[in-house]
Amino acid sequence: MSTDPTVSGEPGHDPVLAADDPVTDTVVNPGAAEPDPVIDTRNTALHDGVNRCPKCGSTEIQLRVSTQMLICLFCRHEWAEESIDPTISGDGTLDDLSGTTIASGASDITSDEGMASFKCGGCGAEVVVNTSESMSSRCHWCRHVLTVNEQMPNGAVPDAVLPFKVTRDQAVKHISDFAGSRRLFADRTFRKEFTPGNVVGVYLPYMVVDSRATGTVAGKGEIETRRYTRKHGETETTYYDADVYQVERNVTFTVDDLTIESATSRTSDVRVNTNNVINTILPFDTKNAVRWNANYLVGYTSERRDQDVSTMVPVLEDQLLSITRSQVEKSIKKFDRGVRWENEKIDVHGTRWVSMYLPVWLYSYYHEHKGRPMVHYIAVNGRTGETMGSVPVSHGRLLMAALTTGTVLEGIALAIIGATL
Ligand SMILES: [Zn+2]
Ligand SMILES: [Zn+2]
Repeated sequence: MSTDPTVSGEPGHDPVLAADDPVTDTVVNPGAAEPDPVIDTRNTALHDGVNRCPKCGSTEIQLRVSTQMLICLFCRHEWAEESIDPTISGDGTLDDLSGTTIASGASDITSDEGMASFKCGGCGAEVVVNTSESMSSRCHWCRHVLTVNEQMPNGAVPDAVLPFKVTRDQAVKHISDFAGSRRLFADRTFRKEFTPGNVVGVYLPYMVVDSRATGTVAGKGEIETRRYTRKHGETETTYYDADVYQVERNVTFTVDDLTIESATSRTSDVRVNTNNVINTILPFDTKNAVRWNANYLVGYTSERRDQDVSTMVPVLEDQLLSITRSQVEKSIKKFDRGVRWENEKIDVHGTRWVSMYLPVWLYSYYHEHKGRPMVHYIAVNGRTGETMGSVPVSHGRLLMAALTTGTVLEGIALAIIGATL
C-alpha cells in the first residue's frame, strides 16, 4: 500500500489543532447541487468508425506492447496518442482544487444499452458495435475495423487508457514463477493444467481521483506513568497506571491519483476474490495514461464501468479517512499506550474524477480440492509486472458470504455453483 497515491500538503510534524480551533476552509460537499465543471477529454483528432493509419490509411491497427505505441500492421508505422495528464491537471495545483470536477469520460452512465452504429467508411454498410462487450468490430462486408473513438454521452468510453507494457510472454513467465514460489499453486495439478493460452489481457475500469480534504479524528490517548507487578499467591500480574487524554487531530492534505475501481461486478460476485488480488498489484503509473483510442484495446478484453461518481464518493471518503489516520500517526507517538479514535470526520474540499482503463493480465485456475471446486486467480500488473495470486476460495465459503450479505449475491453464488458442480 505504501506507494499508492502521492499525498502531500501535510504540515509534516504537528498537524495538531486545539479542539476548539475552527477549520477555516470552506467545506464543499461533493454531492452538492451546484453545476460541476467538466474537463473535456474527447479526442477530436479521431473520427468514429473507420480509424485509419495516418501514413497509409489501413485500419489494421493495434498496440505494440514493447513500445507502448500503436502500430499499423500494414506499413509498420508507429505512433501514440498524447498524454492525458496536461488536459486533466490544467494550470492549477491540487491546493486550488475545489468543488467536484468530472472529466467528460467519467460522466454518469445513462443506459445499459451500449449500442453504437457506424457507417463503414470502406463500403458504406451500417455496422453495430456493442460497447458493453467491445470497443471495436470488423465490418462483415469489407473487413475494415470500426472503432468507437468518440465519447458517447452514456459513459461507456473512458477519458484515458494506460496501455499494456508487460507483454503476454512476460506475463506468462511472471505467473509461472509466482506459482512455482507459492506452495498453494505449486501442486502437480496446477503445473499440469497451466495453460498460458488462458492468460487474458484485460483493461479494468477505474476512477483516478485527485482530492483535497481535511480529516479530523478524535479519541482517547494513554501515556503510561507507572508499571508494577503484584503477586497473587503463585501468579504475578502486571499493572499499568496511565494518564488518559482527549486527543484531537486535524490535517488538510491533497491526494494525487487515488485509483478506485468503478465496476461493481467485481465486488459482488465470485470475483470478489480477484478484486482483493487486484488491490495488491497497485499502484499503476497513471501519469503515463494517454488519450482514449479504441485501437489500444485490440486483442484485449475490457470490462465496462458501471459506477457513477456519486456512488463512489463513500469509497473515496473511506480512503481519505484512512489517509488521515496515517498522516496523524507520527504526531501521536507520545501516547505510548496508543490512541483509540472514537470520532472521525472528513471534509472534502475538492475532487477531480477521471475515468481510465488500467491493464491487467489475469489467469484463473479451477480445480477440485478434496472433492470441492476451488478457484484461484493470479493477476499481473500490466505496467509493472507486480504479481499476486488469490487465496483459494471454495464455493461453499462464497455461498455463505452471499447468504449473509443479501439475496442478489445469493442468486449469483448459486448460479456459479450450479454452473460448476
Ligand atoms: Zn499504415
Ligand atoms: Zn465495410
